[in-house]
Amino acid sequence: MPADTDVAILGAGLAGLSIASWLVDTIPPHKPAPRVHLLEARQEDTNDRTWCFWDQQPHPFREAISHRWPRWQVQFGNQCVEREDRDHCYSLLSANAMRRSAYTAMATRPEFHVTRGIDVETISPLEDGLHIATSKGELTSKLVIDTRPPTFAMLSSHQGVWQVFRGVEVHCPNHGFSLSTARLMDFQSGFDGVNFVYLLPLDDHRLLAEWTCFHVDKTHPDCQRLLAQQIPSQLTEWLNQRLGNQWSLLRQEMGCLPMMPVVPPSLNSRYLAAGIRGGWMRPATGYMFASCQRGAGNVARQVYQASETGCWQLTPPRLRSATLEWMDKVFLQALRQSPEQVPGWFMQLFRRTSAIEQRLFLGDEPRLGDLLAIMRGLPAGPFLSAAIRLARNA
Ligand SMILES: Cc1cc2nc3c(=O)[nH]c(=O)nc-3n(C[C@H](O)[C@H](O)[C@H](O)COP(=O)(O)OP(=O)(O)OC[C@H]3O[C@@H](n4cnc5c(N)ncnc54)[C@H](O)[C@@H]3O)c2cc1C
Repeated sequence: MPADTDVAILGAGLAGLSIASWLVDTIPPHKPAPRVHLLEARQEDTNDRTWCFWDQQPHPFREAISHRWPRWQVQFGNQCVEREDRDHCYSLLSANAMRRSAYTAMATRPEFHVTRGIDVETISPLEDGLHIATSKGELTSKLVIDTRPPTFAMLSSHQGVWQVFRGVEVHCPNHGFSLSTARLMDFQSGFDGVNFVYLLPLDDHRLLAEWTCFHVDKTHPDCQRLLAQQIPSQLTEWLNQRLGNQWSLLRQEMGCLPMMPVVPPSLNSRYLAAGIRGGWMRPATGYMFASCQRGAGNVARQVYQASETGCWQLTPPRLRSATLEWMDKVFLQALRQSPEQVPGWFMQLFRRTSAIEQRLFLGDEPRLGDLLAIMRGLPAGPFLSAAIRLARNA
């Protein structure tokens, strides 16, 4: 590890590698790049997650997308709503494919380095940069982009819920689900909180199925059971009913995502929190890919400009409109107040809105008309009451 660098990126996950990839794309090939150093705690990468998103804006990973579904649906009991958009499919990028793409891009630039198996411990501001203490020594950097997971103190947990999920990729003789349809939410009744199955048919013999629960308390026994079991019993039962015991486990993934506003730390104008730590994940959905690409593109342009002008400063990118942020807060408040009504709200919302309104809203880029359509699609009473409660608590 060098003693100093121009840009230190702490964490080589989605945000860290997206920023590095955007930076490679942003700097013209004939221009020198700033020295960029990524510090990552993990020694080895694992294919531990897949990112899904509506592929509707520029990003450096398009070639690495492995699956596309032109249709998506939500289901509750025997009711099902389906929408289709052939031009902007719901798309899947695996962690391995994203990392391969990012490391290939970085390999074209000798100024980019990655140190693995290193724990960043503390960061302290200096007059002309930041000092980083790690498990493997010290480093100073002109800019620091911190994508490590947020600490509990940074989360506004009283304003949101936890999204706890466990997923399995399974092999089976023939599942019979349509390969052109992603099932975003198949709501399950009889459980505490909001529970649904997320289902992605990958090919004729492979499925990704996840059991997801929204809960105000991640220490609730249901959440803990979900995280502790290799395959949750409720998901085993769900799969057995549909696949008749004829399936085998290929891979698994799990998560406990804070669907809540984040208050990012700020040390000085040379430090920027990014990724979930920077509040880039959409609190109302747990999706981050779309806003992460907008954020990473913005930060990459700022870093390039800083290296050109010698003015080493970063400003947090504004990723969502104030109206969208307010709507997310109202939604989370309503969810906290009446979780048992959530499946009905979603069914109504998906039924009353078009494919374009849904994908722009869920992809973080709604126009005013889409926001109004979403508001009209939701029941007025509970959301008005949630908005009033939110205003009172402010
Ligand atoms: C299983 C799973 C599936 C998901 N699916 C989707 C999806 O389909 N669509 C979507 O939009 N979002 C999805 N998300 C949400 C979100 O996009 C991901 O959590 C995303 O990885 C967050 O990116 P990040 O860079 O903020 O954090 P991470 O990707 O977790 O990266 C943080 C990095 O920091 C490293 N680190 C931690 N501590 C230290 C330290 N002290 N020093 C150095 N490095 C450190 C970690 O090892 C890690 O590599 C999913 C999340 C999970 C967990």
